Amino acid sequence: MKSLFKQIFRQIKKYDNIVIARHIGPDPDALGSQLALRDMIRELFDKKNVYALGNPASRFRHLGMLDKLEDNMSNTMLIVLDTPDIKRIDGVDLKDYDYIVKIDHHPFVEAYADIELIDDTASSTCQILLDMFLTLKFPISQSVAEKLYTGIVSDTDRFLHDYTSVNTFRLVTKLIEVTKLDFTKLYKPLYTRPIEEIKFQGYIYQNLTLTENGVAYIKIDEDLLKEYGVDSASPGNMINELKFVKDIVIWVFFSEDIKSNLIRANIRSNGPIINELAARFGGGGHKYASGARLTSWQQTDSLINELDKLSMEYKSNN
Ligand code: AMP
Repeated sequence: MKSLFKQIFRQIKKYDNIVIARHIGPDPDALGSQLALRDMIRELFDKKNVYALGNPASRFRHLGMLDKLEDNMSNTMLIVLDTPDIKRIDGVDLKDYDYIVKIDHHPFVEAYADIELIDDTASSTCQILLDMFLTLKFPISQSVAEKLYTGIVSDTDRFLHDYTSVNTFRLVTKLIEVTKLDFTKLYKPLYTRPIEEIKFQGYIYQNLTLTENGVAYIKIDEDLLKEYGVDSASPGNMINELKFVKDIVIWVFFSEDIKSNLIRANIRSNGPIINELAARFGGGGHKYASGARLTSWQQTDSLINELDKLSMEYKSNN
């Protein structure tokens, strides 16, 4: 790992123009890692042009602002964070770049970069960056520390998920020690939600369907989202809350996104591996946390059936 960190840093030193991208539908790990790396490079090299590109997520605006490219730049390096495949990269075209680096913690999907740093045992991309910054002995500012900590806490769901390891705690401890980060103040902006969303959460809990084989699901259409005054990304913010419910093995929320003309699926599992199935539905993700973008309600039924089979097999073997 150390030699890959060094190789990446050697390339960063070479390029005056650097663009940093991450996946579509960004979460705090994607945004936190993107903004932390941008700010770190800016702090280390005040003459480099460093841009964080992609669509913003208003919910996580407190993490920092993204940039816009005025003109096409020549001789530019691209660093893509938290994104295993080309179709999920937001806002950049790979062919515009002279050198590409990928840093990711998702299981491998496809190679698209000159350097591919993948650690799918890491809890988050922010954890990999933190490791890199500490290993290469970069000074870590408060603002960079806040972004990294937020990404790690969010992707591990407050250190609940399986990818949380001794290494996660070791790195986070070091981060807090060296930066004296006041981490408790970071929870309020991260977790404060509108009352509409809480009421909507009540609706989801009341209306979940649970199959005999332990698959819980709900289908949320545009009218329902309107009725509760929430947007199509809201259900995804609550999917993890069902992790500790007796009898639920796999759970999935389907949310209609009229603007993008698709139905988003957030899928989670307490045992069966779901990302291979998600990939068959044009999605992907981690072993126990995946997503997909579906094109019809019919497809949601097929996915539920397949998940049900997975759950049944898992239950009969465990
Ligand atoms: P989410 O349910 O949106 O929190 O996503 C869970 C995991 O699945 C994350 O690692 C995402 O990067 C991944 N994921 C979500 N949607 C997709 C998709 N359409 N294609 C591939 N991976 C996805």
